[in-house]
Amino acid sequence: MATHILPTYARFDLAFERGEGCALFTADGRRYLDFTSGIAVNALGHAHPHLVAALGEQAAKLWHVSNIYNIPGQERLAARLCANSFADLVFFTNSGAEAVECAIKMARKFFAHRGQPQRHRLIAFEGAFHGRTLATIAAAGQQKYLDGFAPSMPGFDHVPFGDIDAARAAIGEETAGFIIEPVQGEGGVRPAPAGFLKALRAAADEHGLLLVLDEVQCGMGRTGQLFAHQRDGVTPDIMALAKGIGGGFPLGACLASAEAASGMAAGSHGSTYGGNPLAMAVGNAVLDIMLEKGFLERVNRAATLLRQKLAAVQDHAPGVIEEVRGEGLLLGLKCRVPNTDLVKALHGHGLLTVGAGDNVVRLLPPLIVSDEEISEAADKIAAAAATLVPAGMSGASGS
Ligand SMILES: *Cc1c(COP(=O)(O)O)cnc(C)c1O
Repeated sequence: MATHILPTYARFDLAFERGEGCALFTADGRRYLDFTSGIAVNALGHAHPHLVAALGEQAAKLWHVSNIYNIPGQERLAARLCANSFADLVFFTNSGAEAVECAIKMARKFFAHRGQPQRHRLIAFEGAFHGRTLATIAAAGQQKYLDGFAPSMPGFDHVPFGDIDAARAAIGEETAGFIIEPVQGEGGVRPAPAGFLKALRAAADEHGLLLVLDEVQCGMGRTGQLFAHQRDGVTPDIMALAKGIGGGFPLGACLASAEAASGMAAGSHGSTYGGNPLAMAVGNAVLDIMLEKGFLERVNRAATLLRQKLAAVQDHAPGVIEEVRGEGLLLGLKCRVPNTDLVKALHGHGLLTVGAGDNVVRLLPPLIVSDEEISEAADKIAAAAATLVPAGMSGASGS
């Protein structure tokens, strides 16, 4: 089939017409259980009535006005995000990469504003993913994303994820801070080791540096806390959010303490669409649900159940699944077969998942997933795993 789409995506031959809760439907009516959630985006599932109503109401009133005017929905969403986080100030974007870009610019500006423009380098971590813009591919430092796009933007140093000695050793005269995902998503669902964020915070405090978190994937309830770093009891200076924050509407945000944001005066940054009324209506509606009493407790209960079920599946298919890892409803199955084989086999059983680095299959169900849907997914994974031949084994492992 001739396509006029730039061939940058390796797509599956699947198209969906509508969604409802944790299910997606093809035009010919086939149902798939969605444990991808648009890669951690559809945090409240598909066609959530409260989100649909919020978007519809706003669409009938006002779609867009420029940021040269006050936008009341921004004031409200920013105030609510700040009331529920470390932050004092918020900049709204349309995507995760833009939220990370804002964080990088803010960190550089912080030191420039204080007369230390030489402090412009961020220490980042191997296996990271921060987006696909020129700055964010340089920040992550992964060769597969940098290939062919030289020259790479300067200003980033890379050390092994979880290695505090290497992180401290990388601090120099030009260092502005650290940038890290509390749980690496694309890199293979790798939570930072216990105590690592705290150790980075301590190193940052000792040297007067900034701690920048990329919670674009792991934030907004995904790990069972509103923000993943809350588990570690650390306070960042700057944090990038996106994905789940808009529940499917393109929205991102860069949150910061007043001090970290002190360089960002009028005219220093901007976005045409960032924080427009449609996005703000949906963002506020997402928060309505996530801040409801019991929402995060329910996420934690669902996560515990899913993890138990996956452990049982692994027990029965150790030749296919090597490890279950992750946090909350950001879980990964480290595979002994190519992860793409398992993803494809799961399509055959009506379950949508997504690959990640380190040969992992990521499970990212909507945060509203039910116990029944968790059981259904686990059964499908067990059934799919039974059809796969583990590496090094000659016979079929199951059926
Ligand atoms: C997805 C992601 C990004 C990039 O978000 P986009 O909306 O695709 O620009 C940045 N950081 C992390 C951790 C992500 O998972």
